[in-house]
Amino acid sequence: MAETVVKDKKESFRDSVATISKEGRRNFIMPKKPRGRLYNLRTWFSIFYLIIFFTLPFIKVNDEPLFMFNVLERKFIFFGMIFWPQDFFIFGIGMLAFIVFVILFTVVFGRVFCGWACPQTIFMEMVFRKIEYWIDGDSNKQRLLKGMPWNGEKIRKRVVKFVVFFLISFIIANFFLAYLISMDKLIGYIENPAAHVGTLISLLVFTSVFFFVYWWFREQACIVVCPYGRLQGVLLDKNSIVVAYDHKRGEPRGKLKKAEDHDCKCVDCKEEGACKSMNSKLEAMIRQGDCIDCFACVRVCPTGIDIRNGTQLECVNCTACIDACDAIMDSIEKPKGLIRYASENSISSGVKLKINARIKAYSAVLLLLLSLLAFLIVSRTDLDARLMRTAGMTYTTLPDGRISNLYNLKLANKTHQDIDFSLMLEGLKGDISFVGSGSMTVRKEAYSNLQFLIILDPKQLKGWKTEIRMGMYEKGKKIKTITAKFIGPEVYN
Ligand code: SF4
Ligand code: SF4
Repeated sequence: MAETVVKDKKESFRDSVATISKEGRRNFIMPKKPRGRLYNLRTWFSIFYLIIFFTLPFIKVNDEPLFMFNVLERKFIFFGMIFWPQDFFIFGIGMLAFIVFVILFTVVFGRVFCGWACPQTIFMEMVFRKIEYWIDGDSNKQRLLKGMPWNGEKIRKRVVKFVVFFLISFIIANFFLAYLISMDKLIGYIENPAAHVGTLISLLVFTSVFFFVYWWFREQACIVVCPYGRLQGVLLDKNSIVVAYDHKRGEPRGKLKKAEDHDCKCVDCKEEGACKSMNSKLEAMIRQGDCIDCFACVRVCPTGIDIRNGTQLECVNCTACIDACDAIMDSIEKPKGLIRYASENSISSGVKLKINARIKAYSAVLLLLLSLLAFLIVSRTDLDARLMRTAGMTYTTLPDGRISNLYNLKLANKTHQDIDFSLMLEGLKGDISFVGSGSMTVRKEAYSNLQFLIILDPKQLKGWKTEIRMGMYEKGKKIKTITAKFIGPEVYN
């Protein structure tokens, strides 16, 4: 019975979420500013990441953006290559490969992506949170400020924070839009906002969403909204490397005691009654696990959890608790790494990472998808051409006895240059008679539609349906072969 109660107490953290109070209200987390090696590393990585994020929209290849995700016009550019709706299967395979990669990566390395590369974490922890520390101060000062009546200082700080957060949200929204419609278009719209009210409204909507997320919603985006976070329970196993507390080394945890309360069982004490090697302020420690239950790891956690309870859905692997605990271990002269990147198995049994069947299977699928993707990209043509007989039309017998069929040629030029082409029948003698302008140019990144008649001597036909082949030529060089059916009367010869 006693055991059950202890177990229940240990598991009680599962009954509540740190960000929701007992009354069901939002518990606003005010984490202490992290300091340490990993935090510095993350700061440098974020600077690099942000430089890339804010520079990419300005880079062009052949006068086109390096990346563009124009959902409305269904035009996508990756590394300067234009992808059209016709290339959707390449896009689909690419997405599948990306998902398998994410799964594989997560199975092995846990949520490293969340802590180091997710835009939400980078902007929240490395931009907005830093500004908040700069304006409001560290967590204690933030709490004091929150509890303060609305005096001059509080109003000034809140207004400054509001304006700075809103401005940065506006800048992010602009760049977000630049990734969707290209920087050139965005600048054009900004130069003449009155003529592009829709764009201005989209910008304000994006700004408001970003502002809401970074001002108020914060870690809820990772805990409640992000599907990747929700998948952790399925993706992680005991060999996944995550931010983990070494319970074998840390437990049983216990507070440091002053020398006067000293009931030391430690071997360092000898007969002198106090552990000389320990921090002079804390003077002595009861010999037990290395965790001194100081809660430094909990205080820095942006999602408000206690990592000593084990891997939890809320943990975004930001490593702030590693830095905080390392600093404590330094101060009590214990080895660092009580909280560290490790797998559950490596902690409980010292087993290093194992390549298990699941990793092997995911790797095989990933390899397969990447090979398929590479093949599709390499074999992808710059010009899409679809030749079809005009729907609902049958053949026509001309006064000279020849047979004509009407065709539609649909073209999509995926390149950055206009394509001038000519058409030639292959293996058959006949005429091509264009309907309308008969323009033989497909503009760059554009669709074109060409209508023409093919006129053949009935002697060349093989039954009522004959396959015809046509060569498409650019500057005398064949660029494509297109085929279609030619219909005529049932019986000949
Ligand atoms: S910071 Fe380290 S020592 Fe302090 S409570 Fe957390 S795990 Fe224990
Ligand atoms: S538990 Fe540690 S790594 Fe996980 S979110 Fe909290 S501080 Fe970051």
